[in-house]
Amino acid sequence: MNNLGYCELCDQEKELQLSHIVPSFVYKWMKKSSVTGYIRHGETPNKRVQDGDKVYLLCRDCEQRFGNWEDIFARKVFIPLHEEGSIDPYGKWLLKFSTSVSWRVLTFFKNYLDINHFPHHLLSAVDNALTKWKEFLLDKRPHPAGFEQHMLPFRDFIEDRNDPDLPSNFNRYVSRSIDIDAACDKTEAFIYVKMCRILLIGFIAIDHPDYWRDTKIHVNRGILEKKRYKVPETIRNFMYYKAERAQKVFRSMSDRQWDLIGQDYKKNPEKFRDSEMFHAITRDSIMFGDAAFDDVRK
Ligand SMILES: [Zn+2]
Repeated sequence: MNNLGYCELCDQEKELQLSHIVPSFVYKWMKKSSVTGYIRHGETPNKRVQDGDKVYLLCRDCEQRFGNWEDIFARKVFIPLHEEGSIDPYGKWLLKFSTSVSWRVLTFFKNYLDINHFPHHLLSAVDNALTKWKEFLLDKRPHPAGFEQHMLPFRDFIEDRNDPDLPSNFNRYVSRSIDIDAACDKTEAFIYVKMCRILLIGFIAIDHPDYWRDTKIHVNRGILEKKRYKVPETIRNFMYYKAERAQKVFRSMSDRQWDLIGQDYKKNPEKFRDSEMFHAITRDSIMFGDAAFDDVRK
């Protein structure tokens, strides 16, 4: 066996699979719907990326366990949301899927990146969250305790002209970015997973559960697309910060990369006109005029 090691989920020594941190269907959809057929990672835009971050994390059985939830989520939520279909009430699989993603991202940050920015007293909460999520994923506990999962689907473009803080690329960020983070302040911490029009927040420590409405994923069943979501301003501000950061990264792209993008768009003008990126740019430019093109170098 080539990659013998301990599976992060079941702790057994087995051959490990190269596991995606963000599920592969998100990248597949991005590629399928992009003009260039490539996706670019926020952090390394000069490299065309075909696929997302992958690490040797899980054994085949555990990978399969996650794969089943991913298939249902892709079929019942992700694809309908991105292709104008309707989303039916969800079952037990949604909390399993969401927890599996938060667990993977937090494990990835802890083992492969770092969580040195976390205050000391929140590090024990990290370990506690990982344990509770793992036990829930292995059916050893009925729910992930206080380490809640919240999900926000962004079906429509954002058109709030009265919000002076709205970044000028926000519709592009919302509809076409894949982004992960482990975020914290002094007392609160969460996993942030942006999978195109889906935002998933997995709580490591939550200050004000009452600031959230209609976003918490329930254990057994529920409805994802509710009419009256409420999220705290900190989350909104964090998304704005991430969108602005994505804009800065795009601005730092090399001339050669911009040339390549330009060539791809010229080669596929019809594909570009039909693409979601085109619609998102249109929305951003209706709202912001020239400022929407801040990230496209003159
Ligand atoms: Zn395993």
